[in-house]
Amino acid sequence: MPATLRKNLLPRLRRIRHVALDMDGTIYTDKTLFPATLPFLNLLKELDIGHTFLTNNPSKSVAGYLAHLRGMGIKATAEQLYTSTQATIDFLKRNHPKIRRLFVLGTPGLGDELQAAGFKLMPDDPKSPPDAVLVGFDLSLTYTRLCRAAWWIKKAKPFFATNPDRICPTNEPTVLVDCGSITAALEQATGRAPDAVPGKPNPAMLRGVLNRHSLTPQSLAMVGDRLYTDMTMARRAGALAVLVLTGEATVAEAKKFVPKPDLVVRTLAEFGELLERSRRS
Ligand SMILES: [Mg+2]
Repeated sequence: MPATLRKNLLPRLRRIRHVALDMDGTIYTDKTLFPATLPFLNLLKELDIGHTFLTNNPSKSVAGYLAHLRGMGIKATAEQLYTSTQATIDFLKRNHPKIRRLFVLGTPGLGDELQAAGFKLMPDDPKSPPDAVLVGFDLSLTYTRLCRAAWWIKKAKPFFATNPDRICPTNEPTVLVDCGSITAALEQATGRAPDAVPGKPNPAMLRGVLNRHSLTPQSLAMVGDRLYTDMTMARRAGALAVLVLTGEATVAEAKKFVPKPDLVVRTLAEFGELLERSRRS
């Protein structure tokens, strides 16, 4: 039994109807699925608990992520995937319904998702003003487009970024400069921080999952390996914060971290056992 299992935890686990799963460090590392992942997903099905895969990385489209998961033996539907792109789309539609024309720094995958959601992508042209600037994890960033984004931000256009990550982890001999760093360059150039960043640890990301499935926060568990994104977001959204030790965070770090995860488990298998036990007790 994990040391952090508290007295009132089983009743809380009994209320869980949906599990939001971080991806890298939680269900796989790099391209290798953890041995506990498929049995855990099967158990959720048996217990009639839904699940959603979450990632802050907006560089792949939903179809791209589904293919990535399929390649590792996970069958998922578009409904079961929620990236910072979906979080941003839901956030804009809910909070800024008049914003339609976007100047975007991002991948073609991000552009496709935005267009499918009804947004218009604006060209790099000072005569074509957008309603807002959106910065993503742009893997083909060009200097002129970076300057154009800064121009519109300087012109007081609303400014959003998909996710705050400064780098994207990789085993390759390089540093993958992520959305947070591109945003930081724009902040330096313009003196303006983004108006909103809907990816983790913003609870807007989990609220998107809650709205999509008409769930209450108490019926959602967020499982992830990072304290300052996954656990912070879970606690802010009022979901059960479950830290899994298969990725970045260690037990020692978890003990010191505020807000505390509700539960710390070594693997997904351990969390599965607890969910099962909560149904039996
Ligand atoms: Mg992770």
